[in-house]
Amino acid sequence: MRDLLVDKTAVVTGGASGNGRAISLAYAEQGCDVVVADIREDPREGGTPTHERIESETDAAATFVECDVTDYDSLVAAVGAAEEFGGIDVMVNNAGIFQGEEFLSDDDSTFDRIMDINVRGVYYGSRAAISEMVDGDGGSVVNLSSVAGLRGSGDFVSYCTSKGAVRLMTYALADRFGPDGVRVNAIHPGLIETTMTTEDVPIVGTEAEEAFQETIPLRRNGQPEDVADIALFLASDLADYVSGESVVVDGGMSSTQ
Ligand code: NAP
Repeated sequence: MRDLLVDKTAVVTGGASGNGRAISLAYAEQGCDVVVADIREDPREGGTPTHERIESETDAAATFVECDVTDYDSLVAAVGAAEEFGGIDVMVNNAGIFQGEEFLSDDDSTFDRIMDINVRGVYYGSRAAISEMVDGDGGSVVNLSSVAGLRGSGDFVSYCTSKGAVRLMTYALADRFGPDGVRVNAIHPGLIETTMTTEDVPIVGTEAEEAFQETIPLRRNGQPEDVADIALFLASDLADYVSGESVVVDGGMSSTQ
């Protein structure tokens, strides 16, 4: 199936790397112009910058905007860059960080940093995008939560807190802006092979990987493309009657453990 997002424009935060990069490329392959909004242009995993790949490999247009999601003006500028392509239709609040903490001895720095990027970033990104969508024909907002937003994990109290907040923010925004034609949904990935899980909290490629995979009914790690497929569905008209929903992309892990 092609052209699911033809004539649409998306802004993808954290679109330089990992899941955001796969989402940006999947959208462009379906005819969507993309604003890649990230603090870095070069993918963490290496390779050609996302917007350059879109320009050379697809018929869609793309641009890179330097954007720190903790700064509201930065997100307004990223959404504004979509005007070049006809204005924003889809906002993907994907930028996020993953780190653990020892709850009793940690200073506030882990909590502050995670909440700032993972929660404030989604809040600001949603506001910047939705304020344009309500003045236009509505739109679709896709927020990246995590299975950590569904279940508690003691080594990651701040991260779980942030991803649970993203889930409820999604439901609240869906309620508030559904009447304006804005759909808001969340994706909850499990173990996805990105630099987040090879370097930041190393699981993939470590001794722990095999034991982790034993907890996944499909017995494999997720790939960024698995997340991108769901982000594509949620952004497209196939999900026209889907809002305030959480889609889990974890190979069956969280419903069987
Ligand atoms: P990733 O490979 O590290 O990519 C995240 C991108 O976001 C990076 O390019 C990063 O840039 C950027 N970023 C970080 N802070 C930012 C900020 N303040 N403003 C703008 N961009 C920023 O991670 P990923 O695995 O693709 O994760 C994407 C989303 O999926 C996150 O919300 C994450 O929590 C969620 N998720 C991932 C997994 C997984 O297993 N990978 C599982 C569940 C949920 P820098 O590298 O320069 O910081």
